[in-house]
Amino acid sequence: MAVLGPLLRARGSTTISSMASTIRAFSSCSTPNFENDLKPPSLLAQKPLPLRHDPQDRTVQWVFLGCPGVGKGTYASRLSNLLSVPHIATGDLVREELSSSGPLASQLAEIVNQGKLVSDEIIINLLSKRLEAGEAKGEIGFILDGFPRTIRQAEILEGVMNIDLVINLKLREDALLAKCLGRRICSECGGNYNIACIDIKGENGSPGIYMAPLLPPPHCATKLITRSDDTEEVVKERLRVYKEMTQPVEEFYRSRGKLLEFDLPGGIPESWPKLLQALNLEHYDKKSAAA
Ligand code: ADP
Repeated sequence: MAVLGPLLRARGSTTISSMASTIRAFSSCSTPNFENDLKPPSLLAQKPLPLRHDPQDRTVQWVFLGCPGVGKGTYASRLSNLLSVPHIATGDLVREELSSSGPLASQLAEIVNQGKLVSDEIIINLLSKRLEAGEAKGEIGFILDGFPRTIRQAEILEGVMNIDLVINLKLREDALLAKCLGRRICSECGGNYNIACIDIKGENGSPGIYMAPLLPPPHCATKLITRSDDTEEVVKERLRVYKEMTQPVEEFYRSRGKLLEFDLPGGIPESWPKLLQALNLEHYDKKSAAA
């Protein structure tokens, strides 16, 4: 996976505000045909990009894909801290809108609590606003989590942005369900925890998996809440919707040579170092820890 190293370096790219406005323009047209705009077929075929001297100065334009509960938010947020790029989760944008008294709130609540996807138009509007606000603060690059989730969203993004890398996190379905049901959030500080202890024995040659719970510190323990869409019925529907609407997005990026498949070997202590290794970032992690 050492081939991924050069992808971390800056590439000539659209500015974020032009992306935001172009996303809006594209999304108001009928589905565009980007077939002539295919990117190189393989990461291996990617030419090394010119090095910048300051590693902080590089642009990261990454996407995290994966089923509900797989840990996109956890790993995207860790990488965003490590690489100093914003972590933009469209699920968070939807929840912010839900908790506001804006005109969309009740419409969104109904969709989200049924485990369905919000329309491409609404999600693109929320994302464009977030990107514009980020650019006004001087943000460069991003790690997108939860976008794109439909082929149309992927086509729109591909038409305006040079996405370097798409990380597809994978975990068996029984573990995904248990992780969603165990998810808890501190209502005060927003910290994410998980009370599920997943210990699935391997059988018929397939490996087992152990994921320790991620318990809250005492000051959060009394303030835990559960997401309204983390009930068994809704999680099963979200998993079904993922397979129907989002799994084709994996193939979209696979065929463009941008998809990095990553099977989670366990919880954060086992998975984080392996993910850094797969991204050729393990030395970067040690350097920033020592700094
Ligand atoms: P999950 O844990 O299922 O990955 P998220 O926190 O990413 O959930 O998103 C929560 C909800 O917000 C989704 O179930 C969906 O209703 C809505 N949502 C988030 N991102 C998108 C998107 N890109 N397109 C459509 N709906 C979205």
